[in-house]
Amino acid sequence: MDTRTGMVLATFMMLLNGGVLGLMHKSLSPDVQPSASDWRIGTLLFAGGTSLLALQDFLPMHWNLALANGCLSLGLALYWRAARRFSGSPDTPWIFCPALIATVGIYWFSAQDPHFAIRVYFASVAWSLCLFWSAWTLSRAKAEHDLHSRRVLAGIFLLVGGFMVLRGMSSMLNPIRHISVLDPNSTFNLLTPIVVAALPVVGTSAFLVMCSERLRHQWQHAAATDYLTGLPNRRTITGSGVAAFNNAQRAGTHAGLALAVIDIDHFKHINDRYGHDAGDIALKHVAAVLAEHCRGPHMVGRQGGEEFVALFTVTDAAQAHTAAERLRQAVESAPLQLEGQPVRLTISIGVGVYDRSDTSYDHLLRRADMAVYAAKAGGRNQVAMAEIS
Ligand code: GH3
Ligand code: MG
Ligand code: MG
Repeated sequence: MDTRTGMVLATFMMLLNGGVLGLMHKSLSPDVQPSASDWRIGTLLFAGGTSLLALQDFLPMHWNLALANGCLSLGLALYWRAARRFSGSPDTPWIFCPALIATVGIYWFSAQDPHFAIRVYFASVAWSLCLFWSAWTLSRAKAEHDLHSRRVLAGIFLLVGGFMVLRGMSSMLNPIRHISVLDPNSTFNLLTPIVVAALPVVGTSAFLVMCSERLRHQWQHAAATDYLTGLPNRRTITGSGVAAFNNAQRAGTHAGLALAVIDIDHFKHINDRYGHDAGDIALKHVAAVLAEHCRGPHMVGRQGGEEFVALFTVTDAAQAHTAAERLRQAVESAPLQLEGQPVRLTISIGVGVYDRSDTSYDHLLRRADMAVYAAKAGGRNQVAMAEIS
């Protein structure tokens, strides 16, 4: 296969990939759509660039080379912007600088002072800058439970960037060996369409997987989190509670796990006095205080309404009581302002420490629930330890 055929085939595959990405655009989550648009336009620009290189005879050479390289380097800049947008980096016009400089340089060294090797330097430097920066952007993006596809895409960027560096170096070492990117005597010329096509072809697949991995992560997060407070929801806290309960049962220890049911005192009064929205603010406030004081081996989630469940990893009942008492004091002393007035919020806590007589997580939960009633009956704003049943 000669270089021209390689480029035509590469163009065809790029157009197909750009088209597929366009068809899938609406199925992507809205937060990745701007990034996907950049990727699609980048792919189409790549297709335009390679087709111009393949069909060199239809335009004066300097125009053809400048246009083709302009398309390709602008396409790379858009890939870079896609990586930046995907990672949440702010937009900046500077990413277009390498493309601009390369296009002007390539025009100059084909129209004014024709020099193949210098044109290759310009393209290699601009491309490898965009490619390495794209890889860097993707690799340092905030970890989202290990997006493997992001690493694959960063790897493709690195691979193509490395190839471009080698291509630039080879042309520096053999400046007069060939005069055109279609010259079939150059191995680099033959490899270039294949390596360059890796980005719009293989890279597009990796990009799409990256988008779907993000969507999966967002769904998993939404399914596990309480919408209002951002705490783990009932399903999550129950899952963790059942796992901790099973561990405690296997270990056969008396303690290890303690479960606290936490209920805000007279919460209905907050809603009645300040309105439901203020009630929501108060709920978020209590949730934030509980989360701040429930770190490390402990965990807290929203069970529903104005009720929370905390799981403590403790060695005995005294430790469990101390952990619950710390939460009670923290909520009591955390200031909350509603309508410019200080509002005092308190909580009642029922604590059940795992005992061998507990048959299930629900059994332990029921015991802790009963203890909340005791704390309420005892005057609220207090911790009550559950009876063993
Ligand atoms: P007690 O001290 O006995 O626990 O009294 P209480 O008023 O806290 O308990 P009660 O069960 O009578 O009222 C709980 C209130 O919590 C009633 C309900 O409207 C309110 N509530 C439940 N979920 C939400 C919510 O998501 N937002 C708001 N603003 N209010 C909620
Ligand atoms: Mg309640
Ligand atoms: Mg209550």
